[in-house]
Amino acid sequence: MRYQDRVAGIPWERIEAIRNALKGWTALHFIGGEFRPSESGEVFPTLDPSTNEVLSHAARGGEREVDRAAKAAHEAFQRWSRTPARERKRYLLRIAELLEKHADELAVVEALDAGQVLRIVKAQVARSAENFAFYAEYAEHAMEDRTFPVDRDWLYYSLRVPAGPVGIITPWNAPLMLSTWRIAPALAFGDTVVLKPAEWSPLTASKLAEIVQEADLPPGVFNLVQGFGEEAGAALVAHPLVPLLTLTGETETGKIVMQNAARHLKRLSLELGGKSPALVFADADLERALDAVVFQIYSFNGERCTASSRLLVEESIFETFVERVAERARAIRVGHPLDPETEVGPLIHPEHLERVLGYVEAGLKEGARLLVGGKRATTSFRGEDLSRGNYLEPTLFVGENRMRIAQEEIFGPVLVAIPFRDEEEALRLANDTKYGLAAYVFTRDLERAHRLALELEAGLVYLNSHNVRHLPTPFGGVKESGDRREGGHYALEFYTDLKAVGLPLRPPHVPRFGKR
Ligand code: NAD
Repeated sequence: MRYQDRVAGIPWERIEAIRNALKGWTALHFIGGEFRPSESGEVFPTLDPSTNEVLSHAARGGEREVDRAAKAAHEAFQRWSRTPARERKRYLLRIAELLEKHADELAVVEALDAGQVLRIVKAQVARSAENFAFYAEYAEHAMEDRTFPVDRDWLYYSLRVPAGPVGIITPWNAPLMLSTWRIAPALAFGDTVVLKPAEWSPLTASKLAEIVQEADLPPGVFNLVQGFGEEAGAALVAHPLVPLLTLTGETETGKIVMQNAARHLKRLSLELGGKSPALVFADADLERALDAVVFQIYSFNGERCTASSRLLVEESIFETFVERVAERARAIRVGHPLDPETEVGPLIHPEHLERVLGYVEAGLKEGARLLVGGKRATTSFRGEDLSRGNYLEPTLFVGENRMRIAQEEIFGPVLVAIPFRDEEEALRLANDTKYGLAAYVFTRDLERAHRLALELEAGLVYLNSHNVRHLPTPFGGVKESGDRREGGHYALEFYTDLKAVGLPLRPPHVPRFGKR
């Protein structure tokens, strides 16, 4: 259906052309500067979440493809790591420009493949370009380190050097943004890359490889292997020529990857799941809190690692505030990702929809009160039939923190509201989870806000706001949400090795062993 002449600034005819071109297309591996099918010739289908029809295919890579990609990355590393930073910067800026040039195509492909709303994906493509532009500038000057003059006899200094090929394993929810967030710093700091994107939304990774080719990046600096986690992903984790690994994905996957990577003592950066609380106090700017809380759980189809999926509200305003959230949730427009008015699109895959519906059932069984949603959405806000897609009505429960719906990551548009008596109880409930990615606090009491920022067990705390990304600041979680930090200097620490160099300024005393 044609919704408008232009959606997200893209002419409708162009959207149609991009969609049609996907039909016969196969997303291939990109190894040593060339697009290649799998040696076995095997491919797997990727579905359009709005209908569950086959959208395209991707090559199904395994050990052999990973081995080739790792060797290509290892070989290219010898040159790329010695390429002057200002030259690497030029390549990165070119990639940023090309991402902008191809933004329409990338946005339409990703919206169709991941089921995310086109308007939002378009902004994500802009952020992907920003990732490259930011690290291009940042890296040129960031690799300095310190000198340590020791009295008058010795000079010590430390150096940062590229650490080696990086394996980057990414999830399906925001493939382009999340992969470029790792690829850009890796390349900027002199590492080479093997990317393994998620099997449920593989398409834009191969489009990114086309851009890398157009930017003339030397062969082997960026490689891509398409395929499944247990095949291509596991082979990458096990490959001896890839000493660094970043994984963005589920906590359970993180545990498996950590075990497998331990055999090779690899350096790991894990960005895992979350069950982030939003704490709303009676003295808050409640309009702002309402906007932020609703946006932070229902945008991106609820498939967002930093989603505020537990809403903790002070008892005195609980009923009125939660009723206002319910009103908003009922009015959210569920529809096709290409519809410019859509706020919530389809979940990525029928299996994921089943999993999320399983949580709705679990919530009801444990006695949670269902206020809104809880069912598949079968018609859009325009009255279109949605029954073939993985659509879910935005869902709101009133429950308790001990329930599974409050303890486990659902990764869908499902919110659980829980009352608290006072600050002490709010903090206890907020921290009573195995996760620790983000936390949101809404209060006008400045001291309380900072007190909580200090006490909340989370890698990211937002005060009176939803989550707004800032590239220089550290991003990452604590507890089972992850370990390392990405962003600015923190990325530098991951992607480079630190080395100390010592130089005596006058002949040092060396004990003369064996001198008779
Ligand atoms: P997932 O863990 O199922 O898959 C992530 C990636 O790991 C995929 O590419 C998959 O193929 C690969 N993989 C799976 N098993 C593997 C194995 N044994 N060895 C190597 N690789 C393997 O996650 P998902 O379902 O794609 O994504 C959703 C999850 O990602 C959620 O838990 C979400 O919170 C998390 N996430 C976290 C962040 C963050 O920054 N913390 C950002 C986005 C998503």
